[in-house]
Amino acid sequence: MMPGQIAKFGNSAAQFLLGGLAALRSFGNGEKDRPAVGGDSRQDIELRDAVKQWREVFEHNPVMYFMVDPAGTVLNVNTFGAAQLGYTTAELIGQSVLNVFFEEDHDTVRRSVALCLDTLDQSHTWEIRKIRKDGSVLWVRENAKAMLRGDGTPILLVACENITQRKEAEDALRRSEANLAGAQELSHTGSFVWRVATGEIIWSKESSRIFQFDELTKPSIQLLLERIHPGDRAAAQQKAFQAAHEGKDFENEYRLLLPDGSTKYLHSVARATRDANGSIEYVGSTADITAAKEAERKLRESEQRFRDYAETASDWFWETGPDHRITLIAEHPDTAGTVPSGVIGMARWDIAPEVELEPEKWQQHRATLDAHLPFRDLVYRTKDNNGCPIYVRTSGKPFFDATGDFLGYRGVCTDVTAAIRAEQAEEALRKAQAELTHVTRVTTLGELTASIAHEITQPLAAAISNADACIGWLDREPADLKAARRSAEWIIEDANRASEVIRRIRALAKKTEIEVAPLDINQVVMEAMALVRRELATHAVSARMELASDLPRICGDRIQLQQVLINLVMNGIEAMQANVDRPRELAIRSSRADEDGDARLLLTVTDRGVGLGKDVTDRIFTPFFTTKSDGLGMGLSICRSIIEAHAGRLSAFPNDGGGATFQIALPLPDKDTP
Ligand code: ADP
Repeated sequence: MMPGQIAKFGNSAAQFLLGGLAALRSFGNGEKDRPAVGGDSRQDIELRDAVKQWREVFEHNPVMYFMVDPAGTVLNVNTFGAAQLGYTTAELIGQSVLNVFFEEDHDTVRRSVALCLDTLDQSHTWEIRKIRKDGSVLWVRENAKAMLRGDGTPILLVACENITQRKEAEDALRRSEANLAGAQELSHTGSFVWRVATGEIIWSKESSRIFQFDELTKPSIQLLLERIHPGDRAAAQQKAFQAAHEGKDFENEYRLLLPDGSTKYLHSVARATRDANGSIEYVGSTADITAAKEAERKLRESEQRFRDYAETASDWFWETGPDHRITLIAEHPDTAGTVPSGVIGMARWDIAPEVELEPEKWQQHRATLDAHLPFRDLVYRTKDNNGCPIYVRTSGKPFFDATGDFLGYRGVCTDVTAAIRAEQAEEALRKAQAELTHVTRVTTLGELTASIAHEITQPLAAAISNADACIGWLDREPADLKAARRSAEWIIEDANRASEVIRRIRALAKKTEIEVAPLDINQVVMEAMALVRRELATHAVSARMELASDLPRICGDRIQLQQVLINLVMNGIEAMQANVDRPRELAIRSSRADEDGDARLLLTVTDRGVGLGKDVTDRIFTPFFTTKSDGLGMGLSICRSIIEAHAGRLSAFPNDGGGATFQIALPLPDKDTP
């Protein structure tokens, strides 16, 4: 067979090899058949040349050639082939061809060999990895064919082409495609190409997943538009086509209405490029932003919720920077116009004109701010938009960045002018009431002048007579010092009694502020009665005291309660002035009453005077109601407000047998006050 004939096997390396090997084989056979006569025939010489040529080709062709027997033993390999695998030919010949394959590929190799042997003279091609001597990988494309040798035994001829580089490139491409697909899947972002002129759309797997189409569905503008929410469809279409018309990039946010009725939010960005023909082609991406939208919606909702809370609880919000200067004022729509304009950039202490009036309050506030501590209910005076003074109550909390650096304060403000004014009015009213109580008390004291004078003159007179006696004892011969001393001691007692009366009157006359202390009510009664003793005597009124022993102490103001009692007694005395056939008797009783678990202390003043007609009982406690020509009509109304200030009740009843009873009921502490 001639080299020229061999060429007709074709261009493939394996075919070339097979042709060559066939030549070698026939040469071998020829040698065997050659007659053993001396001298080479011309045919022999040509044949030897051909073999030599083929051996050259076999050895140096940059293709790996293997000749393998049916058992897989390497019968021959070219130097290039062995070198590619890092071996010498001698190292491979006689070894199992499996040695140059990965363990896990051995079955594949065996199957491939078997296939070739089953299909003699048919060539087969496959791609497979081989292991170099140094353990590295070599990818090859093998072209193999089994054929029968002259002796009838099959042989496998294999030509391999190194495709490692291509495989690596393919691998890298596959990896990068897989990475891209992975990244698209993870970021819910699909990519696409839109060829405007043909309407063709090519998109990634993730794009089809986002639009909920199966991978095989070929996307089209029509199909996509159908998926877009009807509310966004026209706008999305208009935007894309307008951009395509102008050859510009575009970006779009829209919703999908999916077959299951759910909604998805998408954001598409498309960059305009031109293809080889100059036609517009968009390359872009579509991100599924549903989760972000949902989070944004929730954030807005929660922000709105807190805003609602804050708005209902306050009139405006504010924010200050790290230097405590105002950076933001957000007014509640209902109170808009209250906040003075131009406060941005000012510090709180610059807005409040009272800083100098209340330096301590502001120093303390500054210290709180400098310590970056929250503060609550700071009330200060400032001016509203019209320059009118207003009172503002504010609370604030410091805020910090992620690294803990102080950024400023956030807080709320409320206009508390009305409340403060009401408080001030209430305070003024309370003061006026206290003044009035005081005035009435002093008036009563004026009425008691005679009694008071008597209370004082009596011990003074006693002191004088005791002093006389004392001198008498001293004048004796010898002086009776013991008796004189006793008289002097009595003088001291008399003087003390007088000064005690003066002390009590002073207290009654001077005091305006309420002072609550635990009191023995019986003692309060006795002290008050001491002051009216003379008044009773002058008006021929006998007073009977029925004071319960072991009464718990009550909490109250001694002087004010005495004032009430004196008032009631004086009224009682006056009510009995006209008594002719009835005795002028006054009974003062103290007792404890327990009703429905409600323990109260009762103090009653009962007279036998004119009594209370139905029409009068309802009105006696109203201010300025009086039936007396010189009456003021304030006594009972003040008495009632004093008792109510003690959480008690003052009531009046007509007595069965004539006269009136006034009852003071005071609450007892849950546990008896010691
Ligand atoms: P004033 O004594 O200046 O009139 P009060 O407020 O103390 O003022 O009393 C109001 C009125 O209540 C008296 O004018 C009188 O009509 C009636 N009143 C008060 N105490 C008694 C009493 N013990 N018996 C009958 N009426 C009384």
